[in-house]
Amino acid sequence: HPHSIYRGRFAPSPTGPLHFGSLVAALASFLDARHNNGQWLVRIEDIDPLREVPGASSDILHTLESHHLCWDETICYQSQRSSAYELTIDQLKAKGHTYYCPCSRKTLTTNQGVHSPECNPAAPSKLLPCATRFRATNHRFHWHDLLLGPQSYLASEQSDDFVIKRKEGFYAYQLAVVCDDIEQNITHIVRGSDLLDSTPPQLALYDALTVKPPQFGHIPVILNSSGQKLSKQNLAPSINNSQVSQNLKQALSALNQPLPQALCNAPAEEIINWAITNWSLALVPKRHSLQGGWLTGSE
Ligand code: GLU
Repeated sequence: HPHSIYRGRFAPSPTGPLHFGSLVAALASFLDARHNNGQWLVRIEDIDPLREVPGASSDILHTLESHHLCWDETICYQSQRSSAYELTIDQLKAKGHTYYCPCSRKTLTTNQGVHSPECNPAAPSKLLPCATRFRATNHRFHWHDLLLGPQSYLASEQSDDFVIKRKEGFYAYQLAVVCDDIEQNITHIVRGSDLLDSTPPQLALYDALTVKPPQFGHIPVILNSSGQKLSKQNLAPSINNSQVSQNLKQALSALNQPLPQALCNAPAEEIINWAITNWSLALVPKRHSLQGGWLTGSE
């Protein structure tokens, strides 16, 4: 049976409360896991103390619980995983996949991805703070997206050598997410298509660590009425936990899972149970974004 093992996850960063777009992502990964009799884990990606908002983690967890999105196992907090990340970096270093780099993103953009003369992969600068980068240049990546079908990407420029540990000493998202998805045996990653660009670097890490990557499926991101992705930066309203059924109905509508008329006034738990049984990933719009979260236009 192809779905005899399924471990999915939702991995929010605690930079603010959940908004409609993140609820849709949580719901999609939850339903895909439960429909396939899988486990669903929650991981709090609190690796960036500078972006963390106090109280956001517990806010997010409370919203998930209020919406009957119940997780399995204990929650993983990335802030407690530094030694695992350091070990993985050591492993990558030992295999020659990394180098130290003092270049800023800005210099690299200005120089079309070419590193500055003082960036010598063999001998890290003693004067400048360095990030640890992963060599990705000239790698080609393919994956069969669960939603979008065959995807292919060529890491061509030196700027595609991505950071795995930042100058400030923080671990980068790409490294932490792969490390944890491996540690937690995640088999299916259903997430927003805003993370499509992160899939090739993550595949590069699986490759380097000789671990079989999970399956990836990228669902549309939700745009606000002016066409921007809902985000904490553009002050997307946070989910109102006192209208759970309505939120779930709206999220299911965004995911194009038509709720039967008879369930329109049903309690949240019934809506969720219906959605688990009737979930169809094939019905989810194969687009990168959706305006307003309601399906308009035809697909
Ligand atoms: N923590 C990431 C975010 O909130 C998501 C990670 C993932 O799903 O791979 O954008």
